[in-house]
Amino acid sequence: MPFDPPYRPRRTLRSAADLVAAGLVPPEAAADLARVADRYAVAVPPALADLIDPADPADPIRRQVVPSAAELEAAPGELVDPIGDEAYSPVKGVVHRYPDRVLLKPVLVCPLYCRFCFRRETVGGADGGLSVEELEAALAYIAGQQGVREVVLTGGDPLMLPPPRLAALIERLCRLPQIELVRVHSRVPVAEPNRVTPAQAQALRAPDGSEAAVWLAVHVNHPRELSPAVRRGLALLADAGVPLLSQTVLLKGVNADAAVLDSLFRALVRNRVRPYYLHHPDLAPGTAHFRPTLAEGRAIMRDLRGRLTGIAQPTYVLDIPGGAGKVPVGPEYLDEAAGTVTDWQGRVHRYE
Ligand SMILES: *Cc1c(COP(=O)(O)O)cnc(C)c1O
Ligand code: SF4
Repeated sequence: MPFDPPYRPRRTLRSAADLVAAGLVPPEAAADLARVADRYAVAVPPALADLIDPADPADPIRRQVVPSAAELEAAPGELVDPIGDEAYSPVKGVVHRYPDRVLLKPVLVCPLYCRFCFRRETVGGADGGLSVEELEAALAYIAGQQGVREVVLTGGDPLMLPPPRLAALIERLCRLPQIELVRVHSRVPVAEPNRVTPAQAQALRAPDGSEAAVWLAVHVNHPRELSPAVRRGLALLADAGVPLLSQTVLLKGVNADAAVLDSLFRALVRNRVRPYYLHHPDLAPGTAHFRPTLAEGRAIMRDLRGRLTGIAQPTYVLDIPGGAGKVPVGPEYLDEAAGTVTDWQGRVHRYE
């Protein structure tokens, strides 16, 4: 990989017709996929299209970004707002669930649209994000929250902002006296590595005189996403002093396999990215074909414990449907009631 022309599109594919023209889906699938695209935004940027093997229908990159008719099927329990953002939104663009942290969503566009996206009902639509006035209202809310120490910029993808706007926003947040940390969650370093520039890395720095820190969490799900261009971008950010984390969604047919995750997490630490969270997929509509069971996820985590450096082990988390927040979902090693602890090989030891 990458694969050769005639295929290789040079612009982002945004419709079923674009995908057919690029040879990524057969013409007979176009009508169904056009219905999916009417419902949920589609975007496959060139950097990711290049990584797809057009001959492999089960390609793990394809599965993440090319729509499928399975998205039209609703499964029991799926929710339009799976993690309860709306119920915890005091002002447009802000989600305030925990006392010390708030989410701020300045834009609702992404460089690509993940087919399993937990915010698929809100991203990529007519509402592109906050107007100037709405952003001011959101910042005024945050400024008034004395207990908030961290602002998580998410969306959508905040790195879709031009670097000067991103820098101005981060500077405003870092100048709030109570803010210690600004965290940016983004898929741009993987989806559009060309956007990772020295200007963007500079924007991801706290302004002079501020004691706050800015961290970047990169959304990455498969080792093949770490192409040479992506690795160069990560090196640029790390060299510029931006602390890097990753977050990964556990996905059936993509990475719900200990060998794939082992290779992903090892590649991330080699690229100076610390695996942070492995998310169990949320109950987003039309995503049942991506969801493994919690038992499968826990078995994979148990397997990784014995074969992977601790630096490369993320926490496996579930965002509780309805908005109660994220919690680790194991596996557990300690059984307090029984007075035992299980080691990485599954042997049980007494521990009083
Ligand atoms: C996920 C999330 C956070 C960040 O949680 P961490 O566990 O600190 O990564 C903060 N606020 C909201 C509303 C969230 O959904
Ligand atoms: S990058 Fe995040 S917000 Fe955007 S489509 Fe993917 S999961 Fe959704």
